[in-house]
Order: sequence, then C-alpha cells, then structure tokens
Amino acid sequence: MNRTLTTRRPMSVARLARWILAAGAASVLWSTEAHGQLKVVTSTTDLADIARAVGGDHVRATHIGEGYEDPHFVQPKPSFILRLREADVWAYVGLDLEIGWMPLLLDGARNQRITAGARGHINVSTVIPVLDANRAVDRSQGDVHPLGNPHYWLDPANARRIAALFRDRFSELDPGHAAAYAANTSAFEARLGAAEQGWAADLATLKDKPIVAWHASWRYFAAYTGVRIVGFMEPKPGVPPSPAHLASLVATMKATGARVILMEPFYDRRTADKVARETGARVLVVPPSVGGAKGLDDYIAVMRNAVATVAAAVR
Ligand SMILES: [Zn+2]
Repeated sequence: MNRTLTTRRPMSVARLARWILAAGAASVLWSTEAHGQLKVVTSTTDLADIARAVGGDHVRATHIGEGYEDPHFVQPKPSFILRLREADVWAYVGLDLEIGWMPLLLDGARNQRITAGARGHINVSTVIPVLDANRAVDRSQGDVHPLGNPHYWLDPANARRIAALFRDRFSELDPGHAAAYAANTSAFEARLGAAEQGWAADLATLKDKPIVAWHASWRYFAAYTGVRIVGFMEPKPGVPPSPAHLASLVATMKATGARVILMEPFYDRRTADKVARETGARVLVVPPSVGGAKGLDDYIAVMRNAVATVAAAVR
C-alpha cells in the first residue's frame, strides 16, 4: 500500500466537485437487485458484514473502507457519493474515525434520508460503552482517538450491540420485514455464541498473558480476552514510535515478560521486528477487519483468527 495516498486530511471542496463529476460520468449506481431492499452503506467492512447478517435478503450493504486499509486513513472512491445519494441507511463507527471525509461525502450526496438527525443516519458508537473516552487528548500531537477508542468491533459483546441496533433501525425503516430482522439477529447471536464456545480454551490461555500492541485498537480485544497489554508501540494513538519511547517499551517488555507484539498489516513491520529482536518477542500480524486477509470473510472469522493467533503465540 502506498502510504502517500493515505495521508489524513480533510477533503477540499474542489476535490469533492471533481469527485461528483467523476461519479456521474462513471454512472455507478445501485444494481437493480437492490429494488425493494434497504440500501445500506457503511464506513467499514465489519459494519457491512453485520448489516448483512441482520438484513439478510432484505438489505443490500456496501462498505467504503477496505478491510486491509488503516481505518483512520481511508480514501473513499468517488462513486460513493452516488451510493450515498441513493442510500436508505448510512452507518458509521463514529468517534471521529470518519471525520476526514464523511462530512463532505454526505454534503455531496444531498440525501435527506441519511443526513445527521435522520433515522437512516446511524452513528454506531452511540450504543457502545466506549473505552478511553476520558483520556486527556492533545489533537495537535496527532492523536487519532480524540473522542475515545473507535475500534470497538473487536469485542463480540459490541458486535451484538451493533446487530441489535441494526435490527431496531432496519425494522423502523422497513417494518414489513421486522420479523425477519429479529430472526436474523437471533441467528447471528447464536452463530457468534457457538463460535465463542469453540474458542473458549484459547480465551483461557490468553487470560493475564502480557503482550504489546502497536495501536490501541486491541484494547477491546484485551477487554474481551483478558490478555494484558503492557505497552503500545505508538506513544499515543496514531503517533509513530520514537526511539525514546521504544527504549522504554523494551524495558517494560523485559520487566513484564511480554513475548508478543500484536500489529495490523498496515503498520511498520520493520520497527516491530527491531523491538522483537531486542526482547526475544514474536511479531504477530493480525488483520482487525473483514476482508483484511484471505479467508477473513465475515466478522466471526476475524475474531476467531485473532483469538487463535494470539493464543497460539502465548501458549
Ligand atoms: Zn485507532
């Protein structure tokens, strides 16, 4: 991935105007299959997957950011303005994760069904017990979690909350299929519960094991699994590691016996390898989202892979 394309900056109005033209020229519209279905656009693949689980045949869900991209630095395609123009639902993570592009995209779409305050506008974070919400934050230092930690989908309890929110909102917007949305949500919860039973032994292994994570994204995973994050490669969320910070982290790892550095595929592997060499640790590259790697085709697969990979490394 080209890091120069993923710079976090608000989109300019001129750029948005070029987008709208490009989108119109491309004529990228919802396919006719969407007829009679709720048209749902989500910011992430994980939200789209849960929307599909809840919506079944009655929902057509598409996502903006890809599962292999850093969710903080997504570059949406121009075609999404037209997608949003036709959408019945816009669902997003919130907590400023999409702040770099969402406002102008929604302005460009000019769709009353999904503007802020409309029933089709779903800020999913409103139903989540957010971690790190009361941390002192200095935005000028580049902290990317100004309103709290947005990576909440990495705890299955929050996946259930997301599913329940989608069930309720889809039922409100499309009451004729409310029974189907309720049944699909129950089925999703049952699949997730069965999967959790399957990885219960891994959870027991993870409990209280010390690890290091690159980004604070794994805070929810830690809350769920009981794994103990003793330090982060980043001194603050979104701020790259400095030599002084890494020296302190190496000392922490030696003191706590942390033998794992857990990171997403889009961070700097070489820096993690360097710390691993100094501490005898292993670097684990684990995708945090649906579509983050081959085979991670749904939410449960993402969680199963993360739990199994970290458990195998600390066992
Ligand atoms: Zn983050």
